[in-house]
Amino acid sequence: MLRTALICFTMLLFGGAAKAQVSDSTWPTHSLDRPQPPEVTPGGQPGGAPSDAIALFDGKTMNGWQTIDGRPAPWSAHDGVLEVKPGSGNIETVQTFGDCQLHLEWAEPVPPKGEDQGRGNSGVFLMGLFEVQVLDSYHSQTYADGMVGAIYGQYPPLVNASRPPGDWQSYDIIFRRPRFDRSGALLSAARITVLQNGILVQDSVKPTGPTSSVERAPYINLGDRLPLILQEHDAPVRYRNLWVRPLPPEPESLPATFVVALRASEADLRDFVGDYAMGTTTLKVAAAEHGLDARMSVDLHGVHYDLSWPLHLIDRDSFLGIAPDGGLPLHLGFVRDAKGSVTTAVTHMAESYGSFARRP
Ligand code: MG
Repeated sequence: MLRTALICFTMLLFGGAAKAQVSDSTWPTHSLDRPQPPEVTPGGQPGGAPSDAIALFDGKTMNGWQTIDGRPAPWSAHDGVLEVKPGSGNIETVQTFGDCQLHLEWAEPVPPKGEDQGRGNSGVFLMGLFEVQVLDSYHSQTYADGMVGAIYGQYPPLVNASRPPGDWQSYDIIFRRPRFDRSGALLSAARITVLQNGILVQDSVKPTGPTSSVERAPYINLGDRLPLILQEHDAPVRYRNLWVRPLPPEPESLPATFVVALRASEADLRDFVGDYAMGTTTLKVAAAEHGLDARMSVDLHGVHYDLSWPLHLIDRDSFLGIAPDGGLPLHLGFVRDAKGSVTTAVTHMAESYGSFARRP
């Protein structure tokens, strides 16, 4: 009989796995009953609004926008372009948004004017709180956490993906709002992913709180949805093609697959060592430094394969082989006769089972 003890184990926290098991993780692999995602028709060209997007700009009016104190938005709108009116203040959407995918395009003023933070400054504030900086950073320097693509004052972009002033540039932003419990305590920080001109510049970063030019501000629960804000910062930055897709809450993660390997003595493992065969396919179980190895020799459609796995004991007489090169895992169980001698090796790999008789 095997005397076993828990030893090793890998890959993920039990907490996360247990929590996830109540919902999405209950679907079996390839279940045909699992609901199909809704259909969305993509925009007619790259950057175009998909069928389920909310257009934030109609191309000719400031409808849908207002000043922060609720007056008509004074920026100019014409010929598909929304232009910042210097000195007029920020504007916000009348509609409110929480989790969302946001697309917008902007062009920096030509000829460029000013330097540093004074060169084509604007910005988009997610929930009115978290600024993704808009700035002319093409061959123009400022502090890294305040350049274009920065989560202002917190995260510099991964790269400077700027186009020259005057050229249209794009942001594609995935935003997850912060979550709070009933007492107002923070459960999870906001998360922001940004592609600038199709290039990843923010990779799921978590702001420390609302962005600020002064000091790091704390998270406060101001609701699940708030307006998007465009910043007026003295520069006539132009915007076009602004659309947003509110996102459903994130699905819970599937539990990571993990293995609890058990320890067995060398004497116990010796029970399994031997040669097994199923037709012309052979399976050799051999002692190895870490315990046991399985090697399978198989001909499939005229091609010969030699496969091998280090074996991890996961239950009485049951092993899991994890291929070091990321190949298919092998589940391997052994059958004993009435006297306790191992007679058969049963394999399960991908969708197929095999029964290998032990050779004398
Ligand atoms: Mg700004």
